[in-house]
Amino acid sequence: MTAYEFIDHSYDVVVVGSGGSGLRATLGMAEQGLRTACITKVFPTRSHTVAAQGGIAAALANMGPDHWHWHMYDTVKGSDWLGDVDAMEYLAREAPAAVYELEHYGVPFSRTEEGRIYQRPFGGHTTEFGEGPPVQRTAAAADRTGHAILHTLYGQSLKHNAEFFIEYFAIDLIMSDDGVCTGLLAWKLDDGTIHRFSARMVVLATGGYGRAYFSATSAHTCTGDGGGMVARQGLPLQDMEFVQFHPTGIYGAGVLITEGARGEGGFLTNSEGERFMERYAPTYKDLASRDVVSRCMTLEIRQGRGVGRNADHIFLHLDHLPPEALAERLPGISESARIFAGVDVTRDPIPVLPTVHYNMGGIPTNYWGEVLDPSEDDHDRVLPGLMAIGEAGCASVHGANRLGSNSLIDLVVFGRAAAERAGTVIDRKSPPRSPDSRSVDAAMDNFDRLRHADGSVPTAALRHEMQTTMQEDAAVFRTEETLAFGCDRMAEVASKLDDIKVTDRSMIWNSDLVETLELSNLMANALATIVSAEARKESRGAHAHEDFPERDDVNWRKHTLARLDGNSVSLSYRDVHVAPLTGEGDGGIALDKIAPKARVY
Ligand SMILES: Cc1cc2nc3c(=O)[nH]c(=O)nc-3n(C[C@H](O)[C@H](O)[C@H](O)COP(=O)(O)OP(=O)(O)OC[C@H]3O[C@@H](n4cnc5c(N)ncnc54)[C@H](O)[C@@H]3O)c2cc1C
Repeated sequence: MTAYEFIDHSYDVVVVGSGGSGLRATLGMAEQGLRTACITKVFPTRSHTVAAQGGIAAALANMGPDHWHWHMYDTVKGSDWLGDVDAMEYLAREAPAAVYELEHYGVPFSRTEEGRIYQRPFGGHTTEFGEGPPVQRTAAAADRTGHAILHTLYGQSLKHNAEFFIEYFAIDLIMSDDGVCTGLLAWKLDDGTIHRFSARMVVLATGGYGRAYFSATSAHTCTGDGGGMVARQGLPLQDMEFVQFHPTGIYGAGVLITEGARGEGGFLTNSEGERFMERYAPTYKDLASRDVVSRCMTLEIRQGRGVGRNADHIFLHLDHLPPEALAERLPGISESARIFAGVDVTRDPIPVLPTVHYNMGGIPTNYWGEVLDPSEDDHDRVLPGLMAIGEAGCASVHGANRLGSNSLIDLVVFGRAAAERAGTVIDRKSPPRSPDSRSVDAAMDNFDRLRHADGSVPTAALRHEMQTTMQEDAAVFRTEETLAFGCDRMAEVASKLDDIKVTDRSMIWNSDLVETLELSNLMANALATIVSAEARKESRGAHAHEDFPERDDVNWRKHTLARLDGNSVSLSYRDVHVAPLTGEGDGGIALDKIAPKARVY
């Protein structure tokens, strides 16, 4: 065993991550008097949630008729019937209360003339179970909704005496021999000390892994660390093949132009100046769901109707909208377009391209956020002591495709649910368990091996290789050939982790080592993604397989589970929950409304 000294801490709950989900859980735990620590590698208000622009979905009905049944239906359909119906009901039903709670905590939402919370249309959100016009369901604070939520939740968490460990990097989970999560190890980046946290509950709220791809809207810190930690324990990752491409990343830079831009009346055109979405999605046009719009854009480009010198992107028009409306509703994206594309949105279209935006897959959980370790005869077996929420988790509420503005609401609804659940399952009187030394030693050995790695491949070079492989072979369109080729390529890329070169051996502000730890986490997520994608012989949501263009509910309406052993991935499958929580007679949705059917917009 390598000689590292530990600083020990003991808490009821340790939350890893201070994005919207981590902060909402931290706040909820602390409110109940649970001794709660929140560990984060970046300052809380720099978490990626801060970048969320468009807004947060809830059937408040402030702008016209709406109902949580309609929101639930849209979410089920958006998920392409892969989401767990109990979790989707929970989301849609609890959403309005969660938004009003945010309002009371102090989130400065935009307002209507009457002083109500302003709501805008968003892709895939409709009325009358997809039969009526688009609904205005997405509550917004201009185009800085995530910023407003994150700052408010941080202030509230401090008020309730949650303790923050800021710029601590969580390395690995500590597991007992009998399969209980009992804490975790973290590295304090500014002084090099190693901290051993023991906890009755660990909550992973570490966000997505967009940075496994070359072009992504997410922050450079979105490296799937929670998924990496879980994979190293031999636990499964779920539905990783479903990666969302956002239709409107700024061409070249990848920076996001919110779907709210189309919600406010923006539209897409090809090189012939045609509003081509009218052809593909006659009813909802530019506001069809994201996977649909991204695929249509890709088709237009492939058929030679892209814009620009290389005919390789598409235009997004806002120039027909009144300048005052742009200044009031979309000030941030007007600025992004100017800085990253040199475009004045009041005069010219923005060059855009589908860009990796969100990971539907993640650590499998039930709708309380409890992590699942499914066995053959119990698909819903709970792993004691561990929860996962937010983009790191997979409840699974977004199934094969997430609707815009359904993530921010997922963060707060399930962050709150996790806190409630922890309040009931944690036995505050039980003596804290001492950290299992075998688990601690294994983690520190791995850490030490990477710290002293002296191979021939620099971290940045290997990361670039992984990102381009994923971008090319696990993209918007997939074929048998590209996926099989991609699996081989990724296996080779991942094997080079054994030959990695870290140049800085110090323990203080060692960004070389941080990036190497992040790369090993990204690699686990990337491997699970491409192997799961190769195996799924159908098209569903974000997984568009050219050789299997149809959805196949008989064989494939099931969740993929990917377990890693070193660099090899083994797959198994888990049943989708098809029953709602509330029966129709008790006010729940009618079952025939959510039965699988073709997904047309
Ligand atoms: C540009 C952009 C715009 C978006 N707009 C919208 C929108 O309008 N509406 C919507 O619903 N969704 C939107 N999304 C999606 C949504 O914002 C994200 O899915 C969501 O914010 C993720 O929140 P989170 O709490 O899961 O994690 P994040 O906000 O990503 O935070 C992750 C946290 O984990 C911590 N962490 C990670 N690894 C470690 C480690 N090893 N050790 C310690 N700490 C660690 C980080 O420090 C951070 O605090 C957008 C996403 C992007 C990228």
